[in-house]
Amino acid sequence: MKSLYDLNYEEMQDFALAQGWKKFRGKQIFKWLYRNRVTDFDAMSDLNLQTRDTLKENFVISSLELVKKQVSKDGTAKYLFSLEDGSLVETVLMVFDYGKSVCVTTQVGCSMGCTFCASGLLKKQRNLTTAEMVAQVMYIQKELDEEEDRVSHVVVMGTGEPFDNYDNVMNFLSIINEDNGLAIGARHITISTCGIVPMIEKFAKAQYQYNLAVSLHAPNDELRNELMPINKAYPLKALMDSLHTYEKLNNRRLTFEYILLKGVNDQKIHAKQLAKLLHGHHYYINLIPYNAVDEQGYQGVDRESAMEFYDTLMKLGVRCTIRKEHGSDIDAACGQLRANEMKKGKAV
Ligand code: SAH
Repeated sequence: MKSLYDLNYEEMQDFALAQGWKKFRGKQIFKWLYRNRVTDFDAMSDLNLQTRDTLKENFVISSLELVKKQVSKDGTAKYLFSLEDGSLVETVLMVFDYGKSVCVTTQVGCSMGCTFCASGLLKKQRNLTTAEMVAQVMYIQKELDEEEDRVSHVVVMGTGEPFDNYDNVMNFLSIINEDNGLAIGARHITISTCGIVPMIEKFAKAQYQYNLAVSLHAPNDELRNELMPINKAYPLKALMDSLHTYEKLNNRRLTFEYILLKGVNDQKIHAKQLAKLLHGHHYYINLIPYNAVDEQGYQGVDRESAMEFYDTLMKLGVRCTIRKEHGSDIDAACGQLRANEMKKGKAV
C-alpha cells in the first residue's frame, strides 16, 4: 500500500480534493505528519472518523525498523534500518556546531561501481521510494524531538546514486523542504552525484535551490575511469560542460568531493591538473579523508600528506577545505555498516 509519506504537499491537497474534501484538509494532514509527527491516523484528532477511515483504506504511515545503532564519541550516530521487504539501509546523523545533519540513503546497494566504495560491494537491488527516504529523516527527527532539537540539514550522500533515482529523490526533497512540513531550507540540503551528466543538466534546468556536490576524486580521465566507471560514459569534458550549464542557470557555488587515496590521486601533478580542470568554475573542493574499506585495497593519506596536498592546491589558487572526519570509530564509510552486517549472514 502507498504511504502517506509518498505524497508531496500538492499531491496531498489533490488527494483531499479528489475525495470531495476541502483543499485545506491536505494541509491539515501534512501538518499532522510533519509538524506533529504523528504515526497513527487516530491521532489526527481534528479529522472526523470517516476522513480517517478513508486515509486508512488508502495509505499506511511508513515506519522503519531499527536493526542497529552505533554512536560515535563525536556524536555521530549511524542507523541500520530494515525496510518492509527486509532490505537494509544506513542513515547517519552528524552533529555540527551549526546544526544536525542527516545523511540519507537513496538506493538499496549501488550500481555505479566506484572501486574505492563499500556501497558498490553490493549491487543495486532497487530504488528507495519517496516514503522510505522521508521515513529516514522522520525517524531521526522523532528522536531529536525528545531533546527539543531538529534536523536542520540533509545531505543526500548515503548509499546509492541520487540521480539514478531522480524522481523519488526530488519528491522526497520537496517534502522535507515544504514550509508546512519540516521546512528544512533548500540551502541546507545537498545532493551528491558521481556525475550522471543528463541528470545534472535536468537538475540544472529545474533551478532548485539545493546545493550540488560532485564526486570528482580524479583530475584526469585515465585515473577517473579507473576509480569511477561512470566516467567512461560521461568523461570529464562532458561533466565540466554540464556543470557550466548548472552554474550559468543557477548562479550557485559547486562543491567537488575529492577523497585522498594514498599514492593514487594525491600527488603534486594531480593538484596541478585539478587547478587546470576547475579553472573558470565557481567552486570549492572538499578534501575527504578516506575511510579504508578492507575489500578495496586503497589506503587513505595521513594528516600531514593531506595538509601538503591542501597547501599545494591553495598555492595554485584552488579553494579547498579538508573535511573533518565524523564517526571514524564506528563503521562510518558509506555502506560499511550494511556490508559488515551482511557479511555476518543477515538477511538482505
Ligand atoms: N553516489 C553519490 C552519493 C553517495 S557517496 C556520489 O557518488 O556522490 C557520497 C560520497 O562519499 C562520495 O563523494 C563518495 O565518493 C564518498 N565515499 C565513498 N566511499 C568512501 C569512503 N570509503 N571514504 C570516504 N568517502 C567515501
